[in-house]
Amino acid sequence: MQLDSCVAVVTGSTSGIGLGIARALATAGADIMLNGFGEAAEIDALRAGLEAEHHVRVGFDGSDLSTRAGVEALVAAAVRDLGRVDVLVNNAGIQYTGPVQSFPAERWDAILAVNLSAVFHATQAVLPGMLERNQGRIINVASVHGLVASAHKAAYVAAKHGVIGLTKVVALETAITGVTCNAICPGWVLTPLVQRQIDDLATRAGITADAAQQQLLGEKQPSLEFATPDQIGALTVFLCSDAASQIRGAALPVDGAWLAQ
Ligand code: NAD
Repeated sequence: MQLDSCVAVVTGSTSGIGLGIARALATAGADIMLNGFGEAAEIDALRAGLEAEHHVRVGFDGSDLSTRAGVEALVAAAVRDLGRVDVLVNNAGIQYTGPVQSFPAERWDAILAVNLSAVFHATQAVLPGMLERNQGRIINVASVHGLVASAHKAAYVAAKHGVIGLTKVVALETAITGVTCNAICPGWVLTPLVQRQIDDLATRAGITADAAQQQLLGEKQPSLEFATPDQIGALTVFLCSDAASQIRGAALPVDGAWLAQ
């Protein structure tokens, strides 16, 4: 795999970890299809900025990945505008927290659709082309919550465990090909998704956002530091390298020792 001749689709790349991954792949020379929600003008500035800075082609498709049709539209846009898909990063994700007995069923459905089913639909859409060329990388941004649970995250934990299971199956089915499939399992990364949880905690506990941030890290992440989108991006680039060609079906933590406990 030479990233400077590859096309990468990064789902949910208008923000947070996905944006960090898109930047890292563009820095390594890959053409990028961005996806996600946000202000059209901001996204276009982001797209044009990446293109100018890294001298790669960068497209954007704002399909909603909560449906199979949306996922298919994104992959079709990448093939139409950039030629093919060599790297698929399934990163888009949403969160909702609450006790299981009152967890809204529509939130369950939405989280399963975006965090798990979209990974299946996108994998199905890109795999035939990758197998035909005998080259490809599928990288699923799961979570430490794909390997352990936390209270009040029923749908998220179920979906992320599912992503790791799916990663293993795809890795087995592609084991003797040039396609690999792996999962990255971040601990806390300071993104809008986590900022909302910090703000909720601050309000609930009547403490400052800084204190809530420290409490969040202290409960789970022994390093007491956030992992960064750049670090997740760097691991993604490594997984695309030939050095990583025998890393298959792995769930790789970037978690400040969360899972070591
Ligand atoms: P974020 O909220 O900053 O970004 C999420 C991205 O997904 C955005 O671009 C958003 O527009 C997009 N998105 C959401 N719903 C979508 C939909 N229906 N269709 C298309 N795009 C959609 O979140 P983040 O923290 O960067 O999370 C990215 C991934 O990393 C998620 O899968 C999340 O579960 C995972 N993760 C995050 C952390 C963390 O601490 N931030 C930890 C572990 C795993």
